[in-house]
Amino acid sequence: MNSEELFLRSKNVVPGGVHSPVRSFASVGGTPIFFSEAKGAYLKSVEGKEFIDYCLSFGPLLFGHRHPEIQEVVEDTVKKAWSFGACEPYSLELAEFITSKIPWAEKIRFVNSGTEAVMSALRVARAATGRSKILKFDGCYHGHLDQLLVKAGSGLAGLSSSDSKGIGPEIIQNTLVLPLDDETALENLFLEQGKDIACLIIEPIPANYGLLPQRSEFLKKCRELTTKYGTLLLFDEVISGFRVSFQGMAGLTGIVPDLVCYGKIIGGGFPVGAYAGKKDLMDLVAPSGPVYQAGTLSANPIGMRAGLKTLTKAWNENPYPELEAKTKRLTSGILKLLVETGDSNWEAVTFGSLFWLKGKTKDPVRTITAIPSDHKSRFAIFFHKLLNQGVYLAPSGYEVGFLSAVHSEEIIEATLNKTKQALKEQK
Ligand SMILES: *Cc1c(COP(=O)(O)O)cnc(C)c1O
Repeated sequence: MNSEELFLRSKNVVPGGVHSPVRSFASVGGTPIFFSEAKGAYLKSVEGKEFIDYCLSFGPLLFGHRHPEIQEVVEDTVKKAWSFGACEPYSLELAEFITSKIPWAEKIRFVNSGTEAVMSALRVARAATGRSKILKFDGCYHGHLDQLLVKAGSGLAGLSSSDSKGIGPEIIQNTLVLPLDDETALENLFLEQGKDIACLIIEPIPANYGLLPQRSEFLKKCRELTTKYGTLLLFDEVISGFRVSFQGMAGLTGIVPDLVCYGKIIGGGFPVGAYAGKKDLMDLVAPSGPVYQAGTLSANPIGMRAGLKTLTKAWNENPYPELEAKTKRLTSGILKLLVETGDSNWEAVTFGSLFWLKGKTKDPVRTITAIPSDHKSRFAIFFHKLLNQGVYLAPSGYEVGFLSAVHSEEIIEATLNKTKQALKEQK
């Protein structure tokens, strides 16, 4: 069966045919490709066609698909156990590894997704402060928990409205929303309501509505105001953790959060999330404290060992400088080819091994409102041209691209050759 037939079948039994919306290609049009295998930097479709993968499962695969060293520990684990629902040494090793390398993660709790990590960390923040309100920014994504599926409401600053049906006003009444990149709005909100805000949550490098690097002054202001008002600062490093540097954005900026969430890379491609922070905060979590949080499959041994192997490699091999250089080479190569084919209205935003192609703008784009309005349609055309030639980008102009350590110079060259072919095609 080909992708088209499989998608038709899937739509009969699965909402929209997918288990996560972006996979449906709704944002770029066309039929999603069904993949059956993956290795290194490559995906293989059910039709047997190969694609160079720059989506990488939306970030977890820092060392590409099925890296042999990671595969080995996965296979070894499968021979020993799949799940205990009891104490085991594997999660302890991962917990000790992370807490020994990341000072602000004094204690850590493993869960099964980034969403769960954020949801649990917010519960801790509310318990620790005795406050109810949460402040988030328009342009940051923190998973699909009810209280954070909000966008800025019209009217009063800080007010929010739901971003999804099924989330009533009573659920989001304690969620405040501000635009990114605006210290004045932040100061005013804290002046009004700072003493009621339990937690300020931010992606320190917002990477879910395109890539929106923030000014360090803005991030510093987040730390300064939260400290001043007794609000906890939560860095959502689900994408950026172990990706932009081993210690994530907190490590790069030197801004120390009170709580931090991880996901994606932390499980080496298996479903793992984690929240971590200072001892006194984390000791509020059951069974040592009164904040309930649990999970049948939490600290699953396969994810724990795949995660430990991935993080150990990242720590020992420090792939980050090379990843950054290769990402720059890829994006500057693509831009050059676009210019050569007469389309000079593109630029690349990169940060480490994250990249985002967008239309040229006068100023750097730091808020979602500054994203060019024709972005979605332009990206869709570019996406399909590359897809035809066997280059797989995330199927939405609002998702970032990822490189892995196994995306070699040769693979980048091959990508640029395919891009060249792709741009020769008629629209
Ligand atoms: C992916 C992501 C999440 C959600 O993680 P899931 O594992 O998809 O639930 C939360 N925050 C950020 C910053 C993310 O990129």
